[in-house]
Amino acid sequence: MVSSEYERRIAARFATFDQDGNGYIDREDFSGAAKALLAEFGTAARSDQGQALYSGAEAFWQGMAGIADRDGDQRISREEFVNSAVKRLRDNPSRFAEIARPFLHAALAVADTDGTGAATVTDTMRVLRILGVQDDICRTAAAALDTDGDGRVGEEEIVLAFARYFTVPE
Ligand code: CA
Ligand code: CA
Ligand code: CA
Repeated sequence: MVSSEYERRIAARFATFDQDGNGYIDREDFSGAAKALLAEFGTAARSDQGQALYSGAEAFWQGMAGIADRDGDQRISREEFVNSAVKRLRDNPSRFAEIARPFLHAALAVADTDGTGAATVTDTMRVLRILGVQDDICRTAAAALDTDGDGRVGEEEIVLAFARYFTVPE
């Protein structure tokens, strides 16, 4: 039996991916997230960082579609997400981490405003807010990403946390 808590958590993960809230996860959700992040940090789309973020977003979408778009209509329905994505990601969180890594790597580079190779907790909050995390939990969530407590969020911290967040235990 599937618990309602489990269903609630799945619904929240779906909503995170469905950035524009149209009921499907598709390419526009990923490119839209890239565009919003670049706008937030004042980075030009045509810059190297902008291009890396867009290609990371496209690779992320392609990876997700490969896992979950079973009927090949170029969008992931809620049913496809629950029946394919969630199960496969749970079985193989490291694969998910690798699908997401180019996007996360590029997002971190955009958010690394002082060029130290990691984003401050404050800049990480800005990223989370742009990606649709509720305002009241952004600070807590950003601080939680800094698992080694050095005040910055690095690539491994963000990739692992991302994989954990989306691989929902039943
Ligand atoms: Ca959508
Ligand atoms: Ca589909
Ligand atoms: Ca850290």
